[in-house]
Amino acid sequence: MFLKPDFNVESIYDIDIMKLDMMGVRALFFDLDSTLMKSKSGKFSYKTLQFLNDLSTNFKIVILTNNKKLSYIKKVKEQTDVSVYYNAKKPNVDVFYQACKDMKVIPSKVAMIGDRPLSDILVGIKAGAVTVLVDSISKDEENFIVRFARFLERLTIRK
Ligand SMILES: [Mg+2]
Repeated sequence: MFLKPDFNVESIYDIDIMKLDMMGVRALFFDLDSTLMKSKSGKFSYKTLQFLNDLSTNFKIVILTNNKKLSYIKKVKEQTDVSVYYNAKKPNVDVFYQACKDMKVIPSKVAMIGDRPLSDILVGIKAGAVTVLVDSISKDEENFIVRFARFLERLTIRK
């Protein structure tokens, strides 16, 4: 199966926000680990918090993560007012749809942004959202095995 994200960029900071806005996107759903913060770090950088804060003036912002570790999620929630949906079971669309409902936005007006084709991009495609694939925020610090697994997963992408 080949997955084609609508956009493929290096990081969240390289997303063409104007373009998304012009496409009618009203909500940005972000994956958490490796997209908004270093995997397992539980900590946003100041730059990322500022970025999300700036975006929140024009878009509804959601964090949609498959992470289900409650202590970790609690730590994340302490740092931001953004709605966090955890244990989202991406690429299953149920929690994605629930978030749409809560945010009063239809899936086609959502941009799903994440680093994993088989969870983040696939859930977005299944839901009919705009999809944005980003490189891992911590890719330079990942070990060989993690990078190799990432390489294999990315073979499913058609650019
Ligand atoms: Mg991720």
